[in-house]
Order: sequence, then C-alpha cells, then structure tokens
Amino acid sequence: NRHFSQFDLTMMESIGSQAGIAIQNAHLFAEVNQLAVTDPLTHLYNRRYFFNLARVELERARRYGHQLSIIMMDIDLFKRVNDTYGHLAGDETLVSLADCVRSNLRQVDLPARYGGEEIVILLPETDLTSATTTAERLCQAIHDLRVPFNGDFISVTVSVGVASLQGQQITDVSKILDQADQALYIAKENGRTRVVVYPQ
Ligand code: GH3
Ligand code: MG
Ligand code: MG
Repeated sequence: NRHFSQFDLTMMESIGSQAGIAIQNAHLFAEVNQLAVTDPLTHLYNRRYFFNLARVELERARRYGHQLSIIMMDIDLFKRVNDTYGHLAGDETLVSLADCVRSNLRQVDLPARYGGEEIVILLPETDLTSATTTAERLCQAIHDLRVPFNGDFISVTVSVGVASLQGQQITDVSKILDQADQALYIAKENGRTRVVVYPQ
C-alpha cells in the first residue's frame, strides 16, 4: 500500500538517468573500439590490429607447435576498374570482395585490409595444403563475383600468395608476411589470377 513520495520519484529519476548515460557510454565504447580495430570501408580488421593479433597467434603456434598460415592477395589491374567505372565503383568492389572473403573463411580466420586493395588473412591451426585449398577457393569465389554498379556488373580477379609456418623457426610476423608477399609477387609475374605457394 506504499505510495512513492516525491523524494522517491526524484531519486529514481536521477538513478534512471545516470543508468541511461552509463548504458549509452558502454555502447559508445564498443563502437569506438570497433572503429579502432577495423577499416571503415570494408569492415575488415585494420593493418595495425592485424599485426597485434598476428603476433599473439604466431607466439601461440610456436609455443605449442601448431600450424599457422598466411594468405596475401592483391586485386589484378584494379586501376582499370577505377579508370573505367570511377573511384566509387572501385570502393563498392572492395566492399563486395571483402564480404566474399569473409563468407568463405572460418570464424577463427583473421582477414585484414593490408593496403589499398590488398587483403591479408591469418589462418590459425592451418597447414600449407589446407591454406592453399582455401586460397584456391577464395580465388574462384572472387572470380565468380559480380558487383552491380549503375546497371553494369563489375568483375575482378586476384593474385594470391600463401606461406606457412610449417617447420620454420620464425619469431617475427613480418618474416612470414614477407614470404606470402614474395609468393604474391611471383603470382603477378607469372600472369596474375593464380595462387602461388612460397617454397618450403
Ligand atoms: P596489379 O595487377 O599489378 O596489382 O595492378 P593494379 O592496377 O591493381 O596495381 P596496384 O595494385 O599497384 O594498384 C592498386 C590500385 O588500387 C591503385 C589505387 O588507385 C587503387 N586503390 C587502392 N585503394 C583503393 C580504394 O580504397 N578505393 C579505390 N577505389 N581504389 C583503390
Ligand atoms: Mg593490384
Ligand atoms: Mg596493390
């Protein structure tokens, strides 16, 4: 039978408003956190965050003797897409390509935007053979992708380099990234739209 007094109401209003602000702050914090680790265009992880995650994953793999592989890809002749359809179309192509990459990976794989139109993927617990299969699958899925733009359809291909920890004593993340990059360079040299594996 108790009624709230004016004091109770004022008190509850004050608590309610402070709780509201706290919840809003928590949302903002999550949003800022998300912005700090992802690339605003593709929503892939950004380069800096990728390096942080990769350092931890490499250390874990080394310590426990687990597998770890890196896939590095670069869009073929992407300048042509920008020149033909405009920069906005290029951006939309990047967004679709990022979605395509994400949907063809496992939850534990870490895809990041490495540079302008370069994507790097860290695959934990993955040996060279499985990473190469994944790379081939990604290459094909991207090849099949059609990005609608102004009544037209844009398609692109990628060149891909793959490297794996497999039996190597690597302590520095940039070493294995460099191996994937070297393989990617050979893929470009050999005519693009292909997967090249760094020799073990
Ligand atoms: P290659 O097959 O040798 O890789 O040829 P390429 O034309 O793709 O050459 P390169 O990789 O050197 O050039 C990348 C181009 O990608 C240059 C730049 O205009 C474009 N690019 C990079 N970042 C973005 C972006 O965020 N949006 C758009 N629209 N284009 C971008
Ligand atoms: Mg390119
Ligand atoms: Mg490039």
